[in-house]
Amino acid sequence: MFDWLIVGAGFAGSVLAERIASQRNESVLLIDRRSHIGGNAYDCYNEAGILVHQYGPHIFHTNAQSIVDYLSQFTAWRPYEHRVLSSVDGKLLPIPINLDTINKLYDLDLTSEQLEQFFLSRREPVDEVRTAEDVVVGTVGRELYEKFFRGYTRKQWGVDPSQLNKSVTARVPTRTDRDDRYFGDSFQSMPAGGYTRMFQRMVDNPKIKIMLQTDYREIRDRIPFRRMIYTGPVDEYFDWSLGRLPYRSLRFEHVTLDCDRFQPVAVVNFPQAEEYTRITEYKHLTGQTSPQTSLTYEYPTDIGDPYYPVPRAENEALYKRYEALAGAAADVWFVGRLATYRYYNMDQVVGQALATFARIQKNLPVSNAPLRAEAAE
Ligand code: FAD
Ligand code: UDP
Repeated sequence: MFDWLIVGAGFAGSVLAERIASQRNESVLLIDRRSHIGGNAYDCYNEAGILVHQYGPHIFHTNAQSIVDYLSQFTAWRPYEHRVLSSVDGKLLPIPINLDTINKLYDLDLTSEQLEQFFLSRREPVDEVRTAEDVVVGTVGRELYEKFFRGYTRKQWGVDPSQLNKSVTARVPTRTDRDDRYFGDSFQSMPAGGYTRMFQRMVDNPKIKIMLQTDYREIRDRIPFRRMIYTGPVDEYFDWSLGRLPYRSLRFEHVTLDCDRFQPVAVVNFPQAEEYTRITEYKHLTGQTSPQTSLTYEYPTDIGDPYYPVPRAENEALYKRYEALAGAAADVWFVGRLATYRYYNMDQVVGQALATFARIQKNLPVSNAPLRAEAAE
């Protein structure tokens, strides 16, 4: 009998497996239906010997020192500040929109003060900023919104930005200085040996048994366990009884080329005609040297693995109903991006998992009864 079954070996499941095994000395069965640990942050060396991210570019950034301290037990770091260019009107321009973006786009020579005036003259006042369109139109105006955001967002989410919560485009700031970093966080780095290596160290504990290519549905009635942490899609756990929560997916096209470098930065965004949203070149992220280079093209789709909860009012309302079911499920904790239907970055998932562990510590004496699976026997 395992003390815990943990479904999903991504950040949420692996952090909790590590905490439970190392701090409570309880046994954990950690399962994943994929053939590897790491969830969407999984990376691996491809046939050319280049470290690539199988599920698109993952850049670690946070303002929480406690999360850096926690993960630093399992990895060293390679300092890396992410920079992204956007392919607009035949030019490669910095995104988030900043002073250089506007000067290069319009062949101007504005100062920061002049750019503030420029935005003020173009922004459309919005009474209440509600949607992903409002955020951008209310800051930089419609023309820049259409060039940099509307097409990208329609591709990425399959709906118009006016149909999405403001939180989606609010992830991308607007700047009037020349700061061209994608993130403003105090800590921005990549795990020095890659994400998968970090995960391996996290779950390397005799108390943790890992079973891959194992779906929860296959084993739930066959392997006894006392308690469970579930990090898969919450609607799936409840057999979609209230209807399906939409999750947006991506098709990844991985390519290796016989040249040193393909593009000037790690990620180039394509908000205009192309079907893909972005191209990632991994050597920029990892600092690896090689005569070849590996890229990933991202094609958004509704079909495939669930990657993104879709932040819209109607989806949040449906999630709230699932959340109520989840809250009533005895001895099951729902954690992570899919199980709590939140558009979380990695550091936020780590924070949520650590907070869940603190609640478990507070509420559950080590290895106590009642036993979930025994009760069912
Ligand atoms: P996941 O990583 O999705 O792990 C859940 C695991 O559960 C999966 O491995 C799945 O196979 C398994 N599972 C689900 N159901 C079952 C079942 N029934 N049985 C068994 N196993 C099951 N965050 C950042 O901070 N920076 C970035 O640059 C960044 N880039 C991203 C790029 C892309 C393309 C995507 C999709 C996400 C990105 N993120 C980024 C977000 C990051 O991936 C997530 O925050 C994080 O990986 C979520 O961890 P998780 O454990 O909640 O979920
Ligand atoms: N976005 C956009 N154009 C860009 C970059 C982002 O329209 O060049 C919008 C788009 O809706 C995207 C959201 O802002 O989904 C958040 O961007 P982010 O880069 O954070 O997306 P993620 O890395 O999570 O896919």
